[in-house]
Amino acid sequence: MKTTEIFTSQLPVGEKLSIKRTRFEPLNKKGKNLKRISIVSGIHGDELEGQLVIYLLAKWLNENIEKLNAIVDIYPAINPLGIDTITRSFPGYDIDLNRAFPGSENEFLPGQVVHALAQDIKGSDIAIDIHSSNIFLREIPQIRINKQFSKETLPLAKQLNCDFIWIHDAVTVLEATFSHTLNLLGTKTLVVEMGVGMRLTKEYGDQLLIGILNLMKKQKMIDCTEKFEIRKPFSSEKGEVFYINAPKSGLFVPSLDHCEIIEKNQKIGEIVNPLTGEVLSELFAPNGGILFTLREYPVVYEGSLLARIFGEKCEEN
Ligand SMILES: [Zn+2]
Repeated sequence: MKTTEIFTSQLPVGEKLSIKRTRFEPLNKKGKNLKRISIVSGIHGDELEGQLVIYLLAKWLNENIEKLNAIVDIYPAINPLGIDTITRSFPGYDIDLNRAFPGSENEFLPGQVVHALAQDIKGSDIAIDIHSSNIFLREIPQIRINKQFSKETLPLAKQLNCDFIWIHDAVTVLEATFSHTLNLLGTKTLVVEMGVGMRLTKEYGDQLLIGILNLMKKQKMIDCTEKFEIRKPFSSEKGEVFYINAPKSGLFVPSLDHCEIIEKNQKIGEIVNPLTGEVLSELFAPNGGILFTLREYPVVYEGSLLARIFGEKCEEN
């Protein structure tokens, strides 16, 4: 195990911006033509679930290094200034790093950071970029992939022990993202979205760790006799995503504790008025399926997103 700075820059008052990577290599296999997997988190400074997953993976590797057949690079904190200040974007520039790729050496500081990251990961066989929503929405562990690259990435996504795979159309692809840049460079790149901003969800961390180990086993990156129990994810190829938005402003009180498989017309929650004791609106599922997004932050305004459900398309007229 070796920790290296992949990017460093002097800050105004004698401090230093430093982005680090730790590399795990197999014992006694140096110099061989090894596969490489890179795991990234903290591109958004207010998202911490990925740091837990990376910690769990590093701990597993420390305890099982003799099983490793590949190079594992971990990058837990791509936006350390953001993490230190509980800020999603890159402080001082107000730039979303996941809209600044591919960047270059001659750009402003955020552009240099993303360029250094892409150059360091380039050549990896697989990359996984872990995000954790925001403080407003809870996401069940899910994978977002672009249709353009889905032939390569979908089979990998199915091994990651997530509940849902959301395949986005080529027209909605954001070209300035980490995943688009790395996929273009030939690294099969998956984006995981799970949990809530500024929080850790232990069960989700454990779930994704199993998925990463399963993927690495299937790729022969680890020698493991253990059989991992993997969830069969819903995939957006065969259905439709339904959005539930707030019809009124108020306090959203969910009827469900967490994301789960629900039935049509099942109650999702209500919007209430604390000033008068009235229920302003009751929300019901327009379709059965998996509720993969649920409002976490209770204050809502007309139009706020409350939930997303993926389900088989309704045949009714
Ligand atoms: Zn994010």
